[in-house]
Amino acid sequence: MASNFSIPGSLGNDNNIIGGKRCGALSGDTFDVVSPVTGEVLAKVPECSKEDVDKAVETAKQAWYDYKLSPVFKRAALVRRIAERVLENKMEIAEVLSMEQGKSLKHESLPEVEETAKNFVLAAEDIVRMETPIIPMEDHNKRVLTFREGVGVMAVITPWNFPTVIPSEYLGPGLAAGNTIIIKPASFTPLSMILVGDCITQALKDLGFSPGVFSLITGPGSTVGEYLVSHPDVDMIGFTGETVTGERICSKAGIKKTLMELGGNGPQIVCDDANLEEAAKAAAFGCFYNSGQVCCATERILVDKKVHDRFVRLLLKEAGEWKLNHPLEGEDYCMGPLNNESTLKKTEEHLSDAVKKGAAILIGGKKEEGRPTNLYFPATVIDGVTRDMLLNTDETFGPVAPVITFETDEEAVEIANETRYGLQMAVFTSSIKKAFFYADRLRTGNLVVNDTTDYWEAHEPFGGGGGTKSGYGRLGGRFTLEDVTSFKTVAIDIEKTL
Ligand code: NAP
Repeated sequence: MASNFSIPGSLGNDNNIIGGKRCGALSGDTFDVVSPVTGEVLAKVPECSKEDVDKAVETAKQAWYDYKLSPVFKRAALVRRIAERVLENKMEIAEVLSMEQGKSLKHESLPEVEETAKNFVLAAEDIVRMETPIIPMEDHNKRVLTFREGVGVMAVITPWNFPTVIPSEYLGPGLAAGNTIIIKPASFTPLSMILVGDCITQALKDLGFSPGVFSLITGPGSTVGEYLVSHPDVDMIGFTGETVTGERICSKAGIKKTLMELGGNGPQIVCDDANLEEAAKAAAFGCFYNSGQVCCATERILVDKKVHDRFVRLLLKEAGEWKLNHPLEGEDYCMGPLNNESTLKKTEEHLSDAVKKGAAILIGGKKEEGRPTNLYFPATVIDGVTRDMLLNTDETFGPVAPVITFETDEEAVEIANETRYGLQMAVFTSSIKKAFFYADRLRTGNLVVNDTTDYWEAHEPFGGGGGTKSGYGRLGGRFTLEDVTSFKTVAIDIEKTL
């Protein structure tokens, strides 16, 4: 472990947060959170069971009415206060995040914690401007007003690739809108979110809200998560994770409002008129940032055959800049280890499938030996990838840049659209006409022109494209508020009032 890192004393064994108090599982069971960076146990967290879920849900249910009826400006002040608390503790949270997730402290974890705070600030700004229409009626005595209000008890279930920023995408708008929330973070990376959870508990206290408004419980998704989403007193679910998990949650939850942010397989398309230097730089970033463990990572690079050779030369140069290193060390941009064994296994399987079918690895391709864990996988470029390979058809989620060639723009659209995912795609072209050719045809929720598939800003609406399996609803800015509120219409007969 890096000499200057030690796990904060606040992360003892009592790491659930229910009713404003840290507590263990009722059974006393725990599980280890192991660092992918060093292989050491960072902390133990509660392995909850149904009884713990019941307790958290009951607490959230009790707190809901008063919270929903609280003044909106006071809720806005709450989420703003949470942001302040997060920023006050940002270095401690970011270091824990790097050690449990594996990402670079300077270039990824600190910016992630800052974006986490920003999501609470944005929710504070958006909620006080959430206007709703007044509806003109045939009966002139009737005046019809509309309102948006908190749905109720909201369960939030999140993945390990962005352990604090993804939770904040739900928690900011969800709390601002008047929901009480229970979060179950990913089992690989719950620790940084527990520290953010402490900030939320403190902010609730600062503003005089009930501590039952926010709870955090840990434990396996397959038991704790599944029981939570199917609980009859949970009214809405916010979920980010794999498509297959999202499908299972929907089948278990029954009739509940759901916001689903699922897998991606975003291509970056490089047209023959693109600025190739820019395209290669963006592709390397899209493939190697957070070691490729990003829902909108560049999973595939589709390159026009006419510029293929020049582009690949530039891509190799860019890929060479991405070095493996300890995430807490060094000023330069570095890639940390992959987060977990199953991501490593999937990356290796996809590469070996491609090589068997004729693709050629140009750099990388094998995990590095002699590191503290066997999760250090280098930046990899593989050429000659074809449509039948897993690298094209499935989400890899590792630091791999697979190059696929196309001959016409129509063919590029066909390849881009042939997977079940449609989250975020990118096109490099110097022609506005071509940019719209792609914008009109790509089946995706988000399209970036002339930047990486990994480009986003916290307030822009982000989510899956209709008809694909990347999910629905929008995370980011005021659009999320529509997904975490229910719409109410109130018709008043003014003739019959005093
Ligand atoms: P995952 O395996 O689906 O897990 C996500 C969360 O769901 C974890 O907290 C997990 O708990 C829990 N879970 C697992 N099975 C469950 C069940 N049956 N019922 C309820 N909860 C359950 O996904 P992941 O491997 O953590 O994350 C990677 C995936 O997330 C990728 O596909 C990526 O594209 C996607 N993602 C999408 C977005 C987006 O905005 N669209 C953003 C980031 C990531 P445990 O940790 O205990 O297993």
